[in-house]
Amino acid sequence: MADIKVPFFDWAGLFNERRDDFSRIMIETAARGGFILQRDVEEFEQNLAEFIGVKHVIGCSDGTNAILLGLRASGVKAGDEIIVPSHSFIAAIQSIHFAGAKPVPVELAEHDWLVDPAAIEAAITPRTTAIMPVHVNGRVCQMEKIMEIAERHNLAVYEDSAQAAGARLNGIGAGCWGQWGTYSFYPSKTLGCFGDAGALVTNDDAIAETVRAMRNHGANSEKSIPLDVAVWGTNCRLDNIHAAILNYKLTYYAEAIARRREIAALYDAAFCDIGPLRLPPAPAETPNFDIYQNYELCVESREQRDALRNYLSENNVGTIIQWGGFGIHQLRGLGFTQDCPITDRFFQTSLLLPMNHILTEAQVDHVISSVRQFFAMV
Ligand SMILES: *Cc1c(COP(=O)(O)O)cnc(C)c1O
Repeated sequence: MADIKVPFFDWAGLFNERRDDFSRIMIETAARGGFILQRDVEEFEQNLAEFIGVKHVIGCSDGTNAILLGLRASGVKAGDEIIVPSHSFIAAIQSIHFAGAKPVPVELAEHDWLVDPAAIEAAITPRTTAIMPVHVNGRVCQMEKIMEIAERHNLAVYEDSAQAAGARLNGIGAGCWGQWGTYSFYPSKTLGCFGDAGALVTNDDAIAETVRAMRNHGANSEKSIPLDVAVWGTNCRLDNIHAAILNYKLTYYAEAIARRREIAALYDAAFCDIGPLRLPPAPAETPNFDIYQNYELCVESREQRDALRNYLSENNVGTIIQWGGFGIHQLRGLGFTQDCPITDRFFQTSLLLPMNHILTEAQVDHVISSVRQFFAMV
């Protein structure tokens, strides 16, 4: 057992799992000059749209800028307030800021560790124009409640679904509930590419058309040089070689998700009797179909979390504290003044275990026995 290593994320493994196929695809695509907006981007967009069950997919350079384009296409403007969960990555609030608006972070709910609909409603002011739920760890937020709140207060809903491509709630995909949603294909994401990549998804034809133009300098036709320009755009294109890789990865993405869910079920069965642990919901088909971008659990105290982390590290099991253990509201240097005590407590006691479809049985067993050994000692 002692020689088994479980890095938190095996970066090289991402390529080496199907090295020959990836090499062939990259060489074939490059050899025909397929670098910018060639057929691979279009094919990937169509195939992903079908996989998710959404009308439009627009490949973008990364998830952060996909959010920015979505906000610009939706007409977000200076003075607008957009409510976001504090338990989230900095990307969404940066894009909100760059679009000229003000992000307003709110608490997570105790039972699912996702944004609390009641906290959203309490944060609404006359300046609020939108809600941006973040489907953290590959689980869709309580969207029925959030959509109801949005409707009652006449607010738009934009979804940061960077961690949730393929997750569903009552059959509806992450990113498909509001006006638009975004995905990230950053290497360590569930559908990870070999560099930065992302997409915006929407069922709204007008948003799709605007974002499609915006990602390519505002060009009305993707083939034309950008002289026929009706909107302000930028360069936010999905690289064509990345699209070719992603298009291939999509052919076994359902399998990769199934493997993540299998590992989550193994963790759940092995840890559910450990008193000090609080586990994420076990995999189910409905209402939530989770894809386990991460397996995040909580212990009783910060001291216990740090001791567990050290013990796992000594046993060659890599772990991570998501976003360095800081919620958005704690970024005081960016001007936030909100207090979110539930989120604070969550970040003090939470930890991510290794979770990836390329983990072997022996690696999963090693994570499980190491965690169990730690709690047998305390
Ligand atoms: C990864 C991530 C992003 C950013 O995606 P990039 O492709 O890295 O720009 C945004 N939001 C969340 C919640 C993420 O996890």
